[in-house]
Amino acid sequence: MDNECIFCKIINGDFGTEFVYETETTVVFNDINPKAPIHMLVCPKKHIPSLNELEDKNLMADLLQTVKDVTQKIGLKSYKTEINTGKEAGQEVFHLHIHILGK
Ligand code: 5GP
Ligand code: ZN
Repeated sequence: MDNECIFCKIINGDFGTEFVYETETTVVFNDINPKAPIHMLVCPKKHIPSLNELEDKNLMADLLQTVKDVTQKIGLKSYKTEINTGKEAGQEVFHLHIHILGK
């Protein structure tokens, strides 16, 4: 846990944020400022600043499996995924997350 990281605080339960889905290594919660009718964020529980720092292949697999499982759980068959990596690409929160955007 990084004490300065907003997503670590969310994952730690500090704000009482509801998790749409959770596994041993990942969590999914709704984006606070949705850019589509459905806008969820898939995060590793471990603090990893961005895709550039992700080295654990099991965790890579867990993140994509979570995308599949949470979309299946809510019956969302068509959706976009996005990973912003680095400030210049629009990354604002430096705790790795996969956006899921759907209608
Ligand atoms: P990024 O630009 O880093 O790829 O995306 C960060 C996302 O996190 C944005 O879509 C933003 O709306 C969302 N976000 C920022 N702060 C919070 C927060 O405190 N709670 C939630 N649920 N989402 C947040
Ligand atoms: Zn973090």
